Parts: sequence; C-alpha cells; structure tokens
Amino acid sequence: MISRLIFKNNGRTLFKESVKFTKSFTRQSPLPADSVLAATKVMLSADLHRYQSHDNNVDEVAKLESEFAQWQGADFCLAVTSGGQALQIALRSVGVDTGTRVLTNAFTLAPVPGAIRAVGALPVLVEVTSDLVIDLDDLSRKAKSSQAKYLLLSHMRGHVVDMDKLSALAKSLSITVIEDCAHTMGATWSGVKSGNFGQAACFSTQSYKHMNSGEGGLITSKDPAVMAKAIIISGSYMNYQTHTCAPDKEYFAEARLDCPNMSARMDSLRAAILRPQLNQLNETVEKWNRLYQVAAESLSKSNLIRLPSELPAAHRVGSSLQFLLPEFDEEHCIDFLKACAVRGVELKWFGRKEPVGFTSTHSHWRYLNSQDLPQTDNILSSLFDFRIPLTFSEEDCRLLGDIIIECVQVCQAGSKT
Ligand SMILES: *Cc1c(COP(=O)(O)O)cnc(C)c1O
Repeated sequence: MISRLIFKNNGRTLFKESVKFTKSFTRQSPLPADSVLAATKVMLSADLHRYQSHDNNVDEVAKLESEFAQWQGADFCLAVTSGGQALQIALRSVGVDTGTRVLTNAFTLAPVPGAIRAVGALPVLVEVTSDLVIDLDDLSRKAKSSQAKYLLLSHMRGHVVDMDKLSALAKSLSITVIEDCAHTMGATWSGVKSGNFGQAACFSTQSYKHMNSGEGGLITSKDPAVMAKAIIISGSYMNYQTHTCAPDKEYFAEARLDCPNMSARMDSLRAAILRPQLNQLNETVEKWNRLYQVAAESLSKSNLIRLPSELPAAHRVGSSLQFLLPEFDEEHCIDFLKACAVRGVELKWFGRKEPVGFTSTHSHWRYLNSQDLPQTDNILSSLFDFRIPLTFSEEDCRLLGDIIIECVQVCQAGSKT
C-alpha cells in the first residue's frame, strides 16, 4: 500500500511517497485443527476440571504435564492458570515468604515483580546490560548488599545470559534460582533447554507467548520436594495422586498438610488445545528464527541501530525483536515512533514516562520501593520492541526492517546537532 509520509524536518515539511506496513502485530495464527477437535471432545464430555476425569482416563492436563516435561527435559511438571501464578507458586515452593528479599532483573515484564510482591516478598532489582541480560557484576553487588538468597531470573524477551557464569555465581553466593522462561520456551544454552538451570522454571501459555491457550502457565522442576509443594499450593486438594508427572507419594506426606491451597489449576480445555501445539513447537521455533533473521539482517544495514548480541552458546527464539538507538535523545525517539506509526509500524518504546499496554518499566511499579538503576534507565531510554507474530511472512519482516531504517534516517536528518 502506498501512502504519503508527512514529516517535519527542521521546520520544513517533507513529503515522501512510501510503502505502508499493513499487518497486525497482535494477530496470532489460528490454532491447529487438532486443538479444535480435542477441545470439542473435552466440551462434549463436560470434564472440564482436571480432577473430574471419569473411567480412569488420564486427563488432558496430566497428559500435557508429562509431554511438556519430556520435551523440556525436566522430571516434573505442573500446569496452572497463568505464567504469573506459576511464578508465585514456584517462589512459595522454594521457600520465599513474607519479607524475603528476591533479586530480579530491572528490565522485565510487570508480572515478575508482581509475583514477588504477591507472595509478600521484596524485589531487589538488578541492572541489565545493553544486551538486555542481567548484569552479573551488579547481581554480585546487590546479592551481597541485600543478603538476598533468591534470584527470580527473567530471560526477558528471550535474551539468555551466560548461564555458566550465572550458575557459578549463584552457587558461590548460595542463591536459589528460579527461571522465568515466559520468552525462552524452546531456547537453549549449550544445547540444554532454558529452564533446566535453576530449582524451578516457569512458563506462560498466554496468547502472546510460544504456545497459546489464552491464559495458562507451566512449572517444571527436578526437585521432588519443590514440586510436591507446588502441586498442593496449586489446589490439588487430595487428588495429587492422579498426577502422572509428579514426585512419589512420600514427598506429599508433610506438604499436603503444610501448604495452603491457592487454587490455580489449569483446566482440561486449555490443556487439550496446548497438546497439539506442543507437537509443533520445534517447527514453530524454527519459523520464528527465520523471520527474526530476516528482520535483523534488514535492520543491521543501519549503523545507528544496535541489536543486542547473543552469546555463541545461546540459542534464542526470535518471537520478538528489540533494538537500541543509542544516539537518539527523548525528542528523537518520540519523532521516530511517530514516523514509524505513520508507516503502519506500531513499535513499543521503553523510554516512555507513562506505562502503555503491556509495556512498563521499574519506575512505574509503585508497589515496590523505588530503586536507583542508572544503567538500565539509560538502556531503556532508547530501547524499542516489536512482536513477530507467525502471521508475518519473510517479505513482511524485510519490509518492516526497511521502513524502520527509513524512519531512523528521516529522524536523524532532522537532528539539531
Ligand atoms: C508474559 C510474561 C510472564 C507471565 O505472564 P502471564 O500473563 O501471567 O502468563 C512472566 N514473565 C514475562 C517476562 C512475561 O513476558
């Protein structure tokens, strides 16, 4: 589609006939036909509750848990209502309680500090680097100054920190790690799937993550005591024995009486629509990475754009793309956003004063005490972000990259310096 781009440049008005991007950044692919069939079957049976299953049929939720654990390389898995609930349950299960200090990345999504606060704990924010991963030097400093013994490590936007260094550091400081894998389902470090490096890992199956059940979450762990607690906390009443991917009965002896029921179970309908998606997940990951590659190659043609770099041992899932415009001040960034919007490219910017949509930053989270994070603030001030839905083609990604580069150039041309 051709549109007329109008842009102010040092008081002059520029007109440029230009191609517009028309695809939606929020349009997801339809669910596989097998998901629709499985959902229909569940609805006809009316066995929507995971503990309701008749005839000794293994229910859909238990099947999903076993299949996900196997795919993930974990011993145990529990399906819950959301990624945020997965985080809260995992935190409680490893021993986090009221007043416990929990380290976490300063750059992450709101449900992460939200989960820490929800269990009554106190987030201690750690700086991130310009590659958007947790800063290990600051982690070491903050761990010592706060005496925190827990880290909720957020692999935000799929950027994976050096997990060898992180694991060694956590060990030396006696820190228990929980991984937030909302953006790393299918990502690896040295060939090992993200989520196998801590005491527990949490995943989300909310619509914009790597599998889509609208809402949903998964917890994996190799620790039987942790998983037994998680199952009881998730609200299994005394039905934990129907779980097929759970620790032995003896691990529940105390947990079933000690742990409060916080009712956050996944239902059969969501599990039924997730299982066929799990079967396709490896292909889905490859598709995302091809699209990411095309967009990134296109963007790398401008030396004003900086893409976060990836360590050789890390293998991301390119379901979204972030880039920095380090030479742009606030005014440039706002102009750039407007220029992109005119071309049909709705970017997210982490430098905004006010939170918008899914995008907020630590300075907006008034439920935690304000913390000084100059390095992260500097990075966020010129950080942009867009999703890559699988409804985009490689051609779309190329066009997207070209439009962004043109908008960067237009704004740069308007620079006062
Ligand atoms: C989406 C997300 C979660 C969990 O979100 P829910 O919406 O509760 O499923 C956790 N961490 C990050 C980084 C996320 O993006």
